[in-house]
Amino acid sequence: METISAPRCFISTALPYVNAAPHLGFALELVIADVLARAQRLRGNDVRFVSGTDDHSLKNVLAAARSGTSTQSFVSAHAARFRELASALDISIDAFVSTSDHPTHRQTVETVWSALEARGQLYQKHYRGLYCTDCEQFYEPAELDLELCPEHGTKLDWIEEHNWFFRLGQYREPLIELLGSGRIQIAPESARTELLGFLQGELRDLCVSRDAARARGFGIAVPCDPSQVIYVWVDALLGYLSALGSERTRYWAESCSRTHVIGRGIARFHGVYWLALLLAIEEVLPTRLCVHGYLTVEGRKISKSNNHLDPRPWVQAWGSEAVRYYLLRHVRTTRDGDFDPTRFAQAYDAELANQLGNLVSRSLALVERYAASTVPAQGDLQPHDRALLLHNARLAPEVLEAIERCELDRALEAVFELVRQGNRYVDQTAPWTLARTGEHARLASVLHCLCQTLLTVAYALTPFLPSTARAIACALDHPPGSETLRPGAKVTPPGPLFPKQPARLSP
Ligand SMILES: [Zn+2]
Repeated sequence: METISAPRCFISTALPYVNAAPHLGFALELVIADVLARAQRLRGNDVRFVSGTDDHSLKNVLAAARSGTSTQSFVSAHAARFRELASALDISIDAFVSTSDHPTHRQTVETVWSALEARGQLYQKHYRGLYCTDCEQFYEPAELDLELCPEHGTKLDWIEEHNWFFRLGQYREPLIELLGSGRIQIAPESARTELLGFLQGELRDLCVSRDAARARGFGIAVPCDPSQVIYVWVDALLGYLSALGSERTRYWAESCSRTHVIGRGIARFHGVYWLALLLAIEEVLPTRLCVHGYLTVEGRKISKSNNHLDPRPWVQAWGSEAVRYYLLRHVRTTRDGDFDPTRFAQAYDAELANQLGNLVSRSLALVERYAASTVPAQGDLQPHDRALLLHNARLAPEVLEAIERCELDRALEAVFELVRQGNRYVDQTAPWTLARTGEHARLASVLHCLCQTLLTVAYALTPFLPSTARAIACALDHPPGSETLRPGAKVTPPGPLFPKQPARLSP
């Protein structure tokens, strides 16, 4: 008999440059992608979640030179900090690729380059243009903002080189068709509109190599032309494939879905250049781009002078679940958002501790006290119970659909609506009064409905707050990811899920 395997899914973050330690903006991207990956696993799908670092960038080389260390040890040390951040935030990455020290990445890039060349997709040309090293891209004069980089506000360099070009212009029509028809899903819609707008103009061929001397020799040399290194974006985009190693066909070509989570600043690299490169080598395309916005800190753009830049002290002081919660609930997933320390503390107290933590602790304390720590069976239902159980039944589909639309903030809002309803239900049904007046059957029913609500909340929170979800399921003596309540299970209240923070100050 043939075994039916679970549908396979590929999910990735972008591979960020490692010229500096990771900041809150990348923490946001990690947690968004992690929710998508965990939600697929919750559905029973077989997931490969890829993250990593883009090492072969001139700005990494320049940053290393400024710090007085060798480029390789500089990028490796920074890559380690990205891994540490992912681990601190409980990000469930399956494969982490650092492009300068991955065993098969160089070979993947060289093979793709040779395939492009064999298909007549590459040619050499003398080139001059304005280059932003921070963006690692050339700009047309018309794209500039008062002669400065529109992304960084910095002066551009005039570069004159003999480079290799990719025949990107040939792909204008196929790309318009792909993006316009919705064959590639893009959230939000505004990102699709922007990409289509870009394709309305002339699509110039893409410069895909750099002078090796200018790149200080750090990068992957063009096969048969050691005077050039391969453009860092071509190199980095192929990291998604090399990360899969020998499982590339299984988790890329044969997956049901291939999702890239990216910031809006690099939508064009994924929605135009990456798609065209894949078309050129006849490789399977991604199915979805989830484009998140930029994060400000207290209304200010994240910069090196900003001391809230580093997410790790926040994780150390408040725990990974609190940081995940804020980024996922208080930042609209596909819009720009703000990290505000005051709102962060308020959200922790009002939502995590007083709503969620309180519902869990009071419900379990009631079961401990009035039901001998055992989940009671469901009895006769009254209107309040039916309303609560109906809300329970609706929650998981609603949450999973919102995740599919990349509206993670909406999904969490839906979970907390049930949490609030659960707290109101405790007040309305007053189990302590039922105990005093000896209404034991009614009391058992109420406690059953409360336990079901906790389990439903735990299930729906699994992609967002994995440790909290696990702790709630465990307190109810159910395996993580359970949806259906098992009467008779022994209840063990956990310690406070969101203890009061002694220090209210920002780290
Ligand atoms: Zn720039």
